[in-house]
Amino acid sequence: MPTFKSVGTCFFCNAEFTKAGISKHLNSHLTKENKNQNTGLSLHIRICDDPRYGDLYFLNLWVDGAALMSDIDYFLRAIWLECCGHMSKFSDPKQPRSRGMLSAGEFESEIEEIMDSKAGDILEPGMKLMYEYDFGDTTTLQLIVIDEFSAKAPEPILLLSRNEPIALVCEICNSAPAAVICTSCYEPSYFCKKCGAKHAKTCEDFADYAALPVVNSPRMGECGYEGGAIDKKRDGVFMKK
Ligand SMILES: [Zn+2]
Ligand SMILES: [Zn+2]
Ligand SMILES: [Zn+2]
Ligand SMILES: [Zn+2]
Repeated sequence: MPTFKSVGTCFFCNAEFTKAGISKHLNSHLTKENKNQNTGLSLHIRICDDPRYGDLYFLNLWVDGAALMSDIDYFLRAIWLECCGHMSKFSDPKQPRSRGMLSAGEFESEIEEIMDSKAGDILEPGMKLMYEYDFGDTTTLQLIVIDEFSAKAPEPILLLSRNEPIALVCEICNSAPAAVICTSCYEPSYFCKKCGAKHAKTCEDFADYAALPVVNSPRMGECGYEGGAIDKKRDGVFMKK
């Protein structure tokens, strides 16, 4: 497995930073921008994929305090997750440990209660929440609150940075960018367009249902996920420089 680089561009100055460096950089812009403001409340949050797998994907968001947690849910679905309308939930920051078995009704009302809350009422700096989309083939994300400001955000949710497409290469020719995944096969499972067309001749599943596009999301290759609905220019196959 090659080691991949994860980098993103700054919304304010367009400079490129590593996954590890960009939050601090963005936060210094936000701190300057919101200095001596007293117009409301907003938050700088970072969303990452589950660190147990990959740890390459990230989003940095500027979220208005009046935005609902369901707005964040909607944004995550639109950029990274939505395949067929699965359920999703944020973990409750006030209930860090499981309280034992909840009935189905209790479980759903707990999810709804958090979704209907304002981000500014739930989130505070330093807090970490888990988020899950689809309780079958689950995509697990982590939400980290980096900072808060006493100023309104310009939009309910503003995308400040995301990782650029990861440099996944075809596992057959080892040179062209991977464009399609076979969810039925394991190594090779990433193919460029050309090698994918060949694979379709030998793998019935691939020709039938198991082909999914390479996209810039931690949900790549899961269920029927084919890419996001917003920020599409950074959602595709990586470009060789
Ligand atoms: Zn910058
Ligand atoms: Zn699905
Ligand atoms: Zn190839
Ligand atoms: Zn296959």
